[in-house]
Amino acid sequence: MNDVLPEQSARWQFLEGAVRDVLDQYGYQEMRMPLVEQTALFCRSIGEVTDIVEKEMYTWQDRSSEKKAGDLLSLRPEGTASCVRAVIEHGLAFNQQQRVWYQGPMFRRERPQKGRYRQFHQVGVEVFGIDGPDVDAELIMLSARLWKRLGIDGLRLELNSLGTAESRAVYREQLVEYFTGHIDQLDEDSKRRLESNPLRILDSKNPALAEIIAQAPSLPDSLDDESKAHFATLCATLDKAGIAYELNPRLVRGLDYYSRTVFEWKTDKLGAQDAVCSGGRYDGLVEQLGGRPTSAIGFAMGMERLLALMPDALEREQSPQIYMVLVGDSAQQYGVMAAENLRDANFRVQVNAGGGSFKAQFKRADKSGAALALVVGDNEADAGTIVIKDLRNNAEQTTVSLAELNTELMQRLAP
Ligand code: ATP
Ligand code: MG
Repeated sequence: MNDVLPEQSARWQFLEGAVRDVLDQYGYQEMRMPLVEQTALFCRSIGEVTDIVEKEMYTWQDRSSEKKAGDLLSLRPEGTASCVRAVIEHGLAFNQQQRVWYQGPMFRRERPQKGRYRQFHQVGVEVFGIDGPDVDAELIMLSARLWKRLGIDGLRLELNSLGTAESRAVYREQLVEYFTGHIDQLDEDSKRRLESNPLRILDSKNPALAEIIAQAPSLPDSLDDESKAHFATLCATLDKAGIAYELNPRLVRGLDYYSRTVFEWKTDKLGAQDAVCSGGRYDGLVEQLGGRPTSAIGFAMGMERLLALMPDALEREQSPQIYMVLVGDSAQQYGVMAAENLRDANFRVQVNAGGGSFKAQFKRADKSGAALALVVGDNEADAGTIVIKDLRNNAEQTTVSLAELNTELMQRLAP
């Protein structure tokens, strides 16, 4: 679990701002859900035999007001379950369409490594009540636009269709038969999954299994006609939009609730942590969690991984534009009031606090990232003037009256 230090927060804010802007452009609205839910919600949605539910959740027994054990609660390991719970609870998906997004920390007790943390952050986007491939394409185009906004290139889009629950059942049979024939080559996890959820064997990260997974029957062969048509329309829309993709028939996603379209944006730059954004259609989940049948699709992206891929040069954004250097008793209040007036005019001004010599204050001014220093001594305070010094170029310093100050700064700080 990481602290976000002051020097890192500008990047986070840039990312968050870009996410908000792009989602606004597509007409999505933000939702905020609690970080804690009943454990049962995750068991029912993500699936009992997923890594997340089997071993990665932070779970505890809540205290109850009576003398019996309270509910089992968990920190959320992902957002879709909470979002669907909220949508059902508030009747948001009943007879209407809903385009929503959320952002925030998720918690999984995984083995920490670069790009994999126990508290990490996701942006999630979910759409309810639209069953066509048009919205599948919209989500992918939206994410592609975000990469562009963030200056991230070189991501690969992988696509697959899991079909309907029925066509998956047929495929499941084929897989069980195939993997049973190779049972001695499977690892313990996969042997267990052979009974509970054989599709997840395809998702195994164990390199020893790569070969027999590659030889396994292919899912697209057993797709039903409607799923095939849905998928073909999605692909055609992406072609038209100029978004390149690779078909990956082994892409099944780690969670249980997907149907039809699944996709993943991947990078080659972060080693084994190559998934940046993953999602898919989950038409059965709302009903499975107690709502009325509602088609749905969504995705989540890992913010730490996006931050790692964003170019370095976003830093300066949040620096003050101006650092106010103050030396002398009457300079003190004069300078503070001048800074307040500048802030009224929307300048970003940091005022020296805690005293110090000119030299010490200029050192702080430099470190602040400001472009200009305003310097006030008792002389300036008496005369009603202020000295402007350029911190980044070796220009002559100039003295101006307070009346001229705003105009002068506007010119100097113009982009
Ligand atoms: P992975 O294959 O890397 O384990 P996942 O399939 O478990 O990812 P999802 O549950 O689909 O991932 O979560 C969506 C995104 O959240 C991932 O694509 C990834 O960018 C990010 N993510 C998932 N787990 C972590 C983690 N422990 N630390 C940081 N980011 C994560
Ligand atoms: Mg994972």
